[in-house]
Amino acid sequence: MDEARKEESGADFIRDAVAKDLADGKTAEVRTRFPPEPNGWLHIGHAKAIYVDFGIAQTFGGKCNLRFDDTNPEKEDLSYVEAIQRDVRWLGYDWEDRLFFASDYYEKLYSLAQLLIRKGLAYVDDLDEAQIKEYRGTNVPDKNNITFTPPGKNSPYRDRSVEENLDLFGRMRAGEFPDGSKTLRAKIDMANPNLLMRDPVMYRIRREPHYRTGTAWCIYPMYDFQHPLSDAIEGVTHSLCSLEYEIHRPLYDWFIANCGVFPSRQIEFARLNITHTVLSKRLLIQLVREKKVSGWDDPRMPTIAGLRRRGYTPEAIRDFLGRIGIAKTDSMVDIQLLEHCVREDLNKKASRYMAVLRPLKLIIDNWPEGRVETLLAVNNPEDPEAGSRQIPFTGTLYIERDDFKETPPPKYFRLFPGNQVRLRYGYIVTCTGFDKDPATGEVTAVHCAYDPATRGGDAPDNRKVKGTIHWVSAQEAVPLEARLYDYLFAPERPMDAPAGSSFLDAISSESLEVAGGAFGEPAIAGIAVGQPVQFERLGYFCADPDSAPGKPVFNRTVSLRDTWAKIEKKGS
Ligand code: ATP
Ligand code: MG
Repeated sequence: MDEARKEESGADFIRDAVAKDLADGKTAEVRTRFPPEPNGWLHIGHAKAIYVDFGIAQTFGGKCNLRFDDTNPEKEDLSYVEAIQRDVRWLGYDWEDRLFFASDYYEKLYSLAQLLIRKGLAYVDDLDEAQIKEYRGTNVPDKNNITFTPPGKNSPYRDRSVEENLDLFGRMRAGEFPDGSKTLRAKIDMANPNLLMRDPVMYRIRREPHYRTGTAWCIYPMYDFQHPLSDAIEGVTHSLCSLEYEIHRPLYDWFIANCGVFPSRQIEFARLNITHTVLSKRLLIQLVREKKVSGWDDPRMPTIAGLRRRGYTPEAIRDFLGRIGIAKTDSMVDIQLLEHCVREDLNKKASRYMAVLRPLKLIIDNWPEGRVETLLAVNNPEDPEAGSRQIPFTGTLYIERDDFKETPPPKYFRLFPGNQVRLRYGYIVTCTGFDKDPATGEVTAVHCAYDPATRGGDAPDNRKVKGTIHWVSAQEAVPLEARLYDYLFAPERPMDAPAGSSFLDAISSESLEVAGGAFGEPAIAGIAVGQPVQFERLGYFCADPDSAPGKPVFNRTVSLRDTWAKIEKKGS
């Protein structure tokens, strides 16, 4: 068993915890939720959360809700709600009729806040944001440089009567007070070592129209208050989330216990981090806004939409998520594992074609003038059902500029003067010469002689021909644009930018290369947008929505060279 798979079976502490709750009779069924905030598009880190949330429900025959945690009117938008739903479905998950919005719970949340006030557990505060922060206190290093947290200070408004608090809270809702002038806070403990427990804010006043509730509300619940109670309202038994929420768990439990609602249980797992990318909506939105990429679905983005456009499949992404497993400690996953997973999947699925990215003319001088031969090529050696297709062969072809060298370096088995190569599916040819532009010194054409006895690439006399190269017929070729991608960020950990610089400075100037003058065999004209294909020797590609009639555009999903397979081999 390889390392990655061992991890998967060894670290499934969530499954164990849920199984125990069922065995102990704490719950009779399993209900989970995926709770995105509609303020950006989903990235592959979210895909991990989706995989865990839906997966754990599935494992126990339970259900998973899709709930939008939409309590921040400044950043949220319907377009994000739609993009998120589309991406969850595309990944292969179905919430059926369980689509919920925290904004539908505003009335219920408001009455739970009133309940806490009546219990003497919440109060209206007149301190402003800066004062609240100052009164709360902060972690400080002591003289041995060990962090400690001196107690905070109670707000002078902390001991208002229940009646006054109820009245003020009602008037906050009614719009009597300016934005930011009052908050509703939980009355917990201003000396708690966990700063989040120091009378956290439950409601703030914010006159900002909400994409669903419009101007019905001018107070909005804060995440730490809204999230546990939304879980409880939905009867969520296990609220699974990433590790940064661990420190919020006491607060999660406090709101549930003191409101006396359904006892949802929070369990955290490690966030997904991948090398050469950033997985944080805050950073991704910056890439989009500052036009460092073409949009949320730029094929270099780690978003679900970007990966889809790049040619990734849901199967490859789920395979990847299964291999990395669910751990309790944060780690960095090598992006080459993700690439390995898509190669494995596309190897089975993608039909093969020939295309030439940087064309160089190859002229077969002994080819009968005007003759067109039709060669037969298998579509996918991994899948006999995929059938075969016909490729026209003519006297002038295009080959990759790289497949010819005037002076060959050591171990170069492709074309150079005097050498033989096999033209894939075609004939064996011998290089007889080349043309050069006298002004630039650039090679403009390669001349060859073909051997008519070698059709299909066979060498009847057991001749040793080491190189096989791909080609397209110059007269029958379809022009295309190929977009070749490299990592958006050159460093492995772009988020660890050195002091004084930003992750934006780590953007690679070589992350996109456009091969605008590429050619493909005639059959590529029929490839639908989104369909994965392999261009032989070049990689897996996927037709982009930017394709126009007569000018298809292909994104390279990944090249064929599998560095991960090598890493795995070395490790075993
Ligand atoms: P970001 O940190 O990227 O801004 P977020 O956590 O603010 O994302 P939400 O919409 O709140 O985004 O996230 C929805 C769910 O996805 C949460 O339960 C969160 O724990 C989970 N999640 C977000 N990022 C990751 C990640 N990198 N790995 C695993 N789970 C994640
Ligand atoms: Mg978050």
